Amino acid sequence: MQFLPEEIDQYAHSHTSNESEVLANLNRETQAKVLQPRMLSGHLQGRILATFSQMIQPKRILEIGTYTGYSAICLAEGLTDTGELHTIDINEELEDMVDRYAAAAGTEGKIKMHVGDATEIIPSLNETWDLVFIDADKENYSRYFDLVIGEMNREGYIIADNVLWSGKVVEELNPKDTETKGLLAFNEKVQADARVENVLFPVRDGLMVCRVV
Ligand code: SAH
Ligand code: CA
Repeated sequence: MQFLPEEIDQYAHSHTSNESEVLANLNRETQAKVLQPRMLSGHLQGRILATFSQMIQPKRILEIGTYTGYSAICLAEGLTDTGELHTIDINEELEDMVDRYAAAAGTEGKIKMHVGDATEIIPSLNETWDLVFIDADKENYSRYFDLVIGEMNREGYIIADNVLWSGKVVEELNPKDTETKGLLAFNEKVQADARVENVLFPVRDGLMVCRVV
């Protein structure tokens, strides 16, 4: 589902800096070879994530849900010189492709991929975070928030993708699927939590941006 009229979406894309050649190749190879290529962030959202990261200038980024590494490479653009991005995915088949493209993008030393279930890996990472990007299984968004909120550095940000879930969060449909339920619970949780100030950006599939106060 596309929230914006097609021509407005196209106009926004054509007035947004191009994705790098490496990212364009990664996008193409993902579309050609990997299941569910819709999950890849893509040009506009990639530039949004890169811009947020450049504004925040994080030393430590945690990404939950790597997929083929598109968003990781975009988020890494804002890292400080000694910065690192840790990214987690449960699908081990993706690791080669992520490594290959991280190297092509010149970010190989900065992107550290962990293969496994994020609910188990997050507590084992001995870091505190300036920026967290939540983009894995939607049922666990609230759990991921709980796992990271105590490990955030001052003025850190938590960004969560797909929080509008193609508009399903406002559909009356019952029973709701578990992913929609997970996202509804997450959005309500964030809205009620005084530890963050949040804004839901209705871009692409919805980005929840939380500033830890
Ligand atoms: N951030 C990527 C897209 C991520 S797609 C981008 O924007 O380009 C979601 C990913 O979450 C999938 O690759 C899936 O394998 C992963 N995932 C799902 N459940 C997970 C879990 N419990 N732990 C870690 N990764 C998980
Ligand atoms: Ca996503």
